[in-house]
Amino acid sequence: MMAVSQLRYWFTVSVVIFILTMLLALAYYGYNYNSYTAPTSNLLDLRLAITLIVVEVPLGLGIAWLVPILFERRGKVIEKRMTDRYDELKGYLKKHSEEDILPVLKRWTVDSAPSTIFGGLRYTVLSVSAYYAPKRQSSIGKLTEPNTSNPNILADITEHLSKGVPGDWRKWNGLKIEVASHLGKVVDEWNRIEDATRTECQELGLVEWDGTGQEPLERCTMTRIVETLWVDSDPSRGSGKHVWDIDPIPKEPRLWVKPDGSGSREDVHRLLDLAASRNAETLKGLMRFLNSEGIEVRTTRENLAIESTAIEKEGQEFRTSLVAVADAYERLHVPVPASCSTCGRWLVELKSLGGA
Ligand SMILES: [Zn+2]
Repeated sequence: MMAVSQLRYWFTVSVVIFILTMLLALAYYGYNYNSYTAPTSNLLDLRLAITLIVVEVPLGLGIAWLVPILFERRGKVIEKRMTDRYDELKGYLKKHSEEDILPVLKRWTVDSAPSTIFGGLRYTVLSVSAYYAPKRQSSIGKLTEPNTSNPNILADITEHLSKGVPGDWRKWNGLKIEVASHLGKVVDEWNRIEDATRTECQELGLVEWDGTGQEPLERCTMTRIVETLWVDSDPSRGSGKHVWDIDPIPKEPRLWVKPDGSGSREDVHRLLDLAASRNAETLKGLMRFLNSEGIEVRTTRENLAIESTAIEKEGQEFRTSLVAVADAYERLHVPVPASCSTCGRWLVELKSLGGA
């Protein structure tokens, strides 16, 4: 905007030029008129010239001084409005970044936990779990974005990440598929162990307790066999002795669970007791099965462990990229990358106001 002094200068110059032009025009007109007509007209011209100088000059100069002041006032009002709007938009962006986006990026967890059998067998990768339930009733969770109080906030964050860090966002979507596939393999293995155990037990004449009535001391509980085989074959347990590693196979049947219920509480041992109560062949058959099954589960779990390690590594890389976005904002004052449908229009308006 032009400064007041500049405006005044140009207004004054314009007024002076205007008056000089008028005076020249009058002088010229008066001179010509004087050549042909009555001399009274000279007097008229003189009056006009005096009026022009006495009235027009102060008036013109007054306007030349006042108008720029009004212009400046008006300019200041507009400038103030623009500054206020600029600050307002900056405030919106700050709130959007600090209250909507960053807290979610920070709590976007991708933790894994070891398998547990507290209240049922659970296997977790990237904070997503599969839960074992017999007869193909196992359930698989899904890798999902964190919950937000308002679903629109999650939509905004998704837009920022997909546009701002597209490589990392692709990694996240890839992880969803990999986690689903990995947990699918886990459940397939649970089903396979269950089927194999059921078939073997039926062949050996060991009947599963159906869960009704009082639990007998001698019983074959499929669920617990699957759980025991699975947890005991976890590669992270190292190469120690496993519950199925009964070597050498005793020549005479022995009782792992005493008739009074004391002794080993392992369900595999209960099953062995049940087999031993039949005859030596049944016991040997069951032990062979548990041995070979244990080794097979162990091999499957070793392969799954390699896969889950790769998934966890990718998950951590994704998490690191989110932490980097939050860190860049908080310490280096780098805005959250890209824009979304919420902040896009604020950014456009800010740009029109000369902001970034
Ligand atoms: Zn946004």
